[in-house]
Amino acid sequence: MLEIRNLVKSYGGPGSHKKGQGARVFAVKDVSFRVEPGEMFTLLGPSGCGKTTTLRSIAGLEKPDSGTISVKGRTLFSAGEGIKPLNVAANRRGLGMVFQSYAIWPHMTVFDNVAFPLQVKPRAERPGKSEIEERVHRVLETMELRQYAERQATKLSGGQQQRLALARALVIEPELLLLDEPLSNLDAKLRESLRYELKRLQRELGITSVYVTHDQIEALALSSHIAVMRDGEVVQLGKPRDIYEAPQSKFVAEFIGSSNFIPGHVVSRTGESYVVDAPEGQLHLASGAAMPIGTEVSISIRPESIELSTARPTDLKNVWEGVVATRAFLGDAVDHVVTVGKLTIRARALPSLSLAADTKVFVRMPEDKLSLVPVG
Ligand code: ADP
Ligand code: MG
Repeated sequence: MLEIRNLVKSYGGPGSHKKGQGARVFAVKDVSFRVEPGEMFTLLGPSGCGKTTTLRSIAGLEKPDSGTISVKGRTLFSAGEGIKPLNVAANRRGLGMVFQSYAIWPHMTVFDNVAFPLQVKPRAERPGKSEIEERVHRVLETMELRQYAERQATKLSGGQQQRLALARALVIEPELLLLDEPLSNLDAKLRESLRYELKRLQRELGITSVYVTHDQIEALALSSHIAVMRDGEVVQLGKPRDIYEAPQSKFVAEFIGSSNFIPGHVVSRTGESYVVDAPEGQLHLASGAAMPIGTEVSISIRPESIELSTARPTDLKNVWEGVVATRAFLGDAVDHVVTVGKLTIRARALPSLSLAADTKVFVRMPEDKLSLVPVG
């Protein structure tokens, strides 16, 4: 579906293209990957590793130094030694894009925001008025925004605005949807629910997508394949499970592994409330993921979301007993490694709580801080 080969993109000041002059920054060094039809492919990595540059190059918003980009066998960009140069304009690539900032048009209604990308198509490709209306309503329906069609776009909540941005990208029925940290401006709860909505939508509509994020849990929860990037290069590419179970470098292990992953399987589910059987007890959590009973899952929780205490909490839901194995003082936090039965759990506490090795502790995992990550 999408194929990127040997993509290179550098930035430099005036004159810096001449040898020995100025400092040239290679945002993308030599990136290659393939995305199969219907996939949700994720570029994951820390800030500055070249994710946005890669995505903008696919969209035609950046002109790479060299490499080739093709969608469905159609070359959109090519440059380099012995390669026939080609650069299809962004508006001729037929791709949909959603950014971190919603970039909705504030002076327009919800309907007009979604209709606009169709109305500005070249005359020969522009659908008729009634078809535009029908397509806009259909996509608003999908995004559960139909009742707001006549509302001013700015009068929507943050989550609705982000759904509107998605609706606008989807209305052109793009061959490929490019998403650059589309959820990172939303609060945690909304992010989690939109994450699964996005996944459902992507699956139902069968849209091939390239998703960019620096959030490893988001990547694990959403993706069919993940390319982990560092300093302009893909350092590991694989299925979410392979990435976190078999990191091939210390960088990937540390980047992914700053979270805890607890194996388990779903034992009951009522709507979005799940109970998962884990090695050291049951865990209760809420998730928008639709997973049947028996599904093998991994539950993820960040170290800073775990609450440690020496006193027994009054509510014992999601509380396990463990023993501190080691601790490390980090200045603004204290990292504790806690042994709970067969599991090792990392918890980051405020400096006011520092527990010595061998201290018995209660490990509380708040329901709203647990994420369900599908396995396999
Ligand atoms: P990410 O999206 O992974 O955070 P980017 O692709 O935005 O990373 O940036 C990769 C690198 O390229 C960074 O070092 C960034 O500073 C640099 N960079 C990005 N855009 C420009 C630009 N327009 N001019 C100069 N340097 C840039
Ligand atoms: Mg970016």
